[in-house]
Amino acid sequence: MSNLQTDIQFVPGVGPQRASILNKELDIFTLEDLLRYYPYRYVDRSRLYYVHEIEGTMPYVQLKGVIKSFETFGEGRKRRMVAHFTDGTGFVDLVWFQGVRFVESKYKLNKEYIVFGKPSQFGNKYNIAHPDIEECKTPNYRPEGLFAYYNTTEKMKRSYLNSKTFNKLMEGAFSMLKESIPESLSPYILEAANLISLHDALENIHFPKTPILLRDAEIRLKFEELFFIQLNILGYTANRKEKLKGFFFQKVGHYLNTFYKKHLPFELTNAQKRVIKEIRYDTASGKQMNRLLQGDVGSGKTLVALMLMLISLDNGFQACLMAPTEILASQHFATFQETLSYMGVKIALLTGSTRKKAREKLHAELLSGEIDILIGTHALIEDTVNFNNLGFVVIDEQHRFGVAQRAKLWAKNEHPPHILVMTATPIPRTLAMTVYGDLDVSVIDELPPGRKPVVTAHRYEQKRGALYQFLRNEIKKGRQAYIVFPLIEESEKIDLQNLEDGYLQIKEMFPEFTVSKMHGRMKPAEKEEEMRKFVANEAQIMVSTTVIEVGVNVPNASMMIIESAQRFGLSQLHQLRGRVGRGAEQSYCILVTPYELSADTRKRMEIMTESNDGFVIAEADLKLRGPGDLGGTQQSGIPFNLRIADLVRDSNILYKAREVAEQIIETDPSLEKPEHIVLQRQLRKLMGNRYDWGRIS
Ligand code: ADP
Ligand code: MG
Repeated sequence: MSNLQTDIQFVPGVGPQRASILNKELDIFTLEDLLRYYPYRYVDRSRLYYVHEIEGTMPYVQLKGVIKSFETFGEGRKRRMVAHFTDGTGFVDLVWFQGVRFVESKYKLNKEYIVFGKPSQFGNKYNIAHPDIEECKTPNYRPEGLFAYYNTTEKMKRSYLNSKTFNKLMEGAFSMLKESIPESLSPYILEAANLISLHDALENIHFPKTPILLRDAEIRLKFEELFFIQLNILGYTANRKEKLKGFFFQKVGHYLNTFYKKHLPFELTNAQKRVIKEIRYDTASGKQMNRLLQGDVGSGKTLVALMLMLISLDNGFQACLMAPTEILASQHFATFQETLSYMGVKIALLTGSTRKKAREKLHAELLSGEIDILIGTHALIEDTVNFNNLGFVVIDEQHRFGVAQRAKLWAKNEHPPHILVMTATPIPRTLAMTVYGDLDVSVIDELPPGRKPVVTAHRYEQKRGALYQFLRNEIKKGRQAYIVFPLIEESEKIDLQNLEDGYLQIKEMFPEFTVSKMHGRMKPAEKEEEMRKFVANEAQIMVSTTVIEVGVNVPNASMMIIESAQRFGLSQLHQLRGRVGRGAEQSYCILVTPYELSADTRKRMEIMTESNDGFVIAEADLKLRGPGDLGGTQQSGIPFNLRIADLVRDSNILYKAREVAEQIIETDPSLEKPEHIVLQRQLRKLMGNRYDWGRIS
């Protein structure tokens, strides 16, 4: 047995007090936890600099020279010690603010030292605060190789648990190991993916012998991290598919046929046809479907959902659709009503503002099976909502819901219904494989014909005059416009005031038009009325917060003006832009900002004006922001935060890890073969009690 599980307090240099800090601050409890705490960067200590080479922007320098004299400045707590240091090419000051008393006794004058630290400039002189100092043991002595740096918290630093201490602790940890660290991957995987052993990887991640070995160590550890995530997702999915019987939608019948033959408002795009086929095939397989439908804004996902819901009715099952906002739910309800009511399909709407009496009636009609299709907000996952025979569930704009809500819909029938989640927020492939890895994916990668790409421009606030002139001309041509103001909770009051001011200003500027206003704080009835006016073109301008961000569909609106665009993220800007460009007319999206912008923001504006493609924007977004918050990761297969892998930079490692995991799950879905026991064990360790593919939550 290895001693990897040794309590951290017994590692040389730790002890009970530091152990408790490591427990609390970094979740480090065992020797293994410590070894798995990876450095965040390395510094090459084989390079020596001369004093005259120092420049202000250097993150660190390493010098070799002697201390010529000591000097103290200040009194009491402000006391600091300065050592005047030289290598013959110039002087730097080494400065200490703490431990001042010991410095003079520790270091000797005119003795050769290696000094390492971050230089900062004072006038025409440099100083290095709290440098690392090492004695030159031989005349030509210099440190070797790459030194690891570790992230530490303020609390840790107060107990002198800094990066340097971590170096010592890692040394202590390795000295405690009685034998090699056991491998977590099967030997043939190491070979297939060309990886070094776990032991070598951990040694070199903390104490790299060469840059090449450091690279190999990184690859090995990144692969391992991504591989177990993929193995978990794929194993879970395979087991679920194996066990879960789904409703068998065996036929296409009256409803879909009638709709398709008589009432389809337009020819389907090829992408829509393909996706319908894929889903049709799934629902007739006897297995329960869990599918993600991705399609850029305006690609026509609603129609696809509607047709599939009709297949559900054709097979004697009810269907429901959940949308993230009341506005969107009402809009879907109206579309469905208009398209289906003449066919005798009974559709109902359930939102937070449905009155008690109506709600009770609706509950009864759902139970009796009188209602065929229910459309609503998250109100429809409440326990009081029960169906007669729910067979098909659509979740629109999935990114607005948690995975837990998806799970609740599973429980609305004895067998879980087929589930289709739709999103217009394109997810880069690497992220989708990780966050939505348990879902099958369909993509609508084609917009309906005749759409003109939205023309996007960036304008400064100071130049609103010209913008308003342009707006006036567009509206005179019969178009409509959105003007969106940011609103976030933290500054809600100010933001609402901005919206109010903007609204009044617009009304004043455009007395000849009717202006609507919408924000989340309005009563549902008011919102509905404002929306109705805009849909009917009784109002030409809609001044709004981002409540209209997702899904709203008014094809005649051809202008989207986004105020304070610098405050929005890329995917939000893209969503907002998606509200226009839905009709045959040329549409415009104008991003309005002040002159002063950060480099990042300027980049965002550039990306928006250059690309209309949601996937390009999503990739750029991921690169700019990093995948930091993966959103709902807990239940989507990621049992822990990524420690070393990066979904943007390490996509190739991820694809390889996925490929290997797929092969394994295909041949040995429960990881029972002798060569896979090691994987099963590691997965249990990583997932704790969450590892249980047999259980379906
Ligand atoms: P999203 O995918 O963003 O939810 P919608 O489903 O709201 O997009 O569709 C956007 C618009 O495109 C709607 O007005 C819809 O009626 C229209 N549409 C959908 N499919 C087609 C098609 N095949 N041809 C023409 N227009 C279509
Ligand atoms: Mg939509």
